[in-house]
Amino acid sequence: MQQQYKRLILLPQKDKSVLRKHPWIFSGALQKTSIQLEEGEIVEVFSSKSEFLCVGFWQDASIAVKVLSFEKEKIDYKFILERVQQAVSYRKSLGFFNNPNSNIFRLINAEGDFMPSLIADYYNGLVVLQFHSVGMLKLKNEIVEALKESLGEDCKAIFSKSSSTLPKHVADCDGFLYGELNPEWYAMENGLSFKIDYSQGQKTGFFIDQRVNRELVKTLSNQRNVLNAFSYTGGFSLAAIQGGANKVLSLDISKRAVELCEENVRKNFADNTTHQALAVDVLEYLDNVKKGEFDLIILDPPAFAKHNRNLNQALKGYRQINQKAMEKIAKGGFLFTFSCSQAVSREDFGTMLFSCAAITNRRIRIVQRLPHAMDHPQSIFHPEGEYLKGFLLQVE
Ligand code: SAH
Repeated sequence: MQQQYKRLILLPQKDKSVLRKHPWIFSGALQKTSIQLEEGEIVEVFSSKSEFLCVGFWQDASIAVKVLSFEKEKIDYKFILERVQQAVSYRKSLGFFNNPNSNIFRLINAEGDFMPSLIADYYNGLVVLQFHSVGMLKLKNEIVEALKESLGEDCKAIFSKSSSTLPKHVADCDGFLYGELNPEWYAMENGLSFKIDYSQGQKTGFFIDQRVNRELVKTLSNQRNVLNAFSYTGGFSLAAIQGGANKVLSLDISKRAVELCEENVRKNFADNTTHQALAVDVLEYLDNVKKGEFDLIILDPPAFAKHNRNLNQALKGYRQINQKAMEKIAKGGFLFTFSCSQAVSREDFGTMLFSCAAITNRRIRIVQRLPHAMDHPQSIFHPEGEYLKGFLLQVE
């Protein structure tokens, strides 16, 4: 095949991770070049022995190339359509499209669907796209067409929500790329209706990676007093109410999140009197919680470490909240605790929990290591894709 794209060459001995199909190439692995490249431009990467390795897009960052294919192929509409169709048929085969009780799921999970830097979340016919690199953004039109073609009637509209995930110099406004919907958009998760704030909310509007963990909260909530810390729009709180909790307290620092949480509770449980939501800082509030007041606590904070360099600071934050929760939780209580920082490994997180448990001096057991759901597959060659780490602990 003819040369399609500009070539980048790796330094000697730097091809191991690409040969193992890791989808990122770091700038330090590349030979210096005088070739002028545009941000996001498609490039071919070769070994120092001139062997073809992969096609990807280039970026002026420490991850210099994100790999789209390990085959020598053209990155065109046909290529994108194939990838999108694969992502859609995987979810179809798991029954995600035919479940009126749960019509919120991840449609494209970046590297986990072999489309680095692209997230597509599905909300009852609305697809919200989040581009994390200019290279993927350049393929926007192909992606939109491919989604329309693959989803047909299942796609009512496509919205891009990428202003916070793209570099500032890329002026890409958030907005509809196809169709248009009412700003009041609702979708279902585990039989509960949620308002999806797709234009102003966090991420793509909802934290859809916790669906299976919310189901588990539901099964353990009966007759319990539940504290949902970092509650956002109340995903876990509604699951706890649904599961028959005695009382549920939702805490979030964002007033808007608290309002949405209350709205979601009202919409699903009109007569509910057991739920309360407060706009407070969890780190401060936990000091006021009485020991034994709650026997099910959920800690699902934002990513404390956005980069490796913040790892220590992040672990300190996780330690602070987990230690307090372990101290305060009632005897026999369940603690759901999560980290969504990519830089914090499951091992780091487990070690931090171990040291909190040791300091607290209570008998603590690991009941389950909590997973991502099946709509968030991760490439086996890309361990960094496992960003959400969770543990269900029981405290005596
Ligand atoms: N558990 C939620 C997602 C949590 S996202 C769900 O299931 O949908 C993290 C949330 O933490 C955000 O809503 C953010 O507003 C909130 N937050 C960040 N720092 C906080 C703090 N110090 N105290 C309370 N809430 C905080």
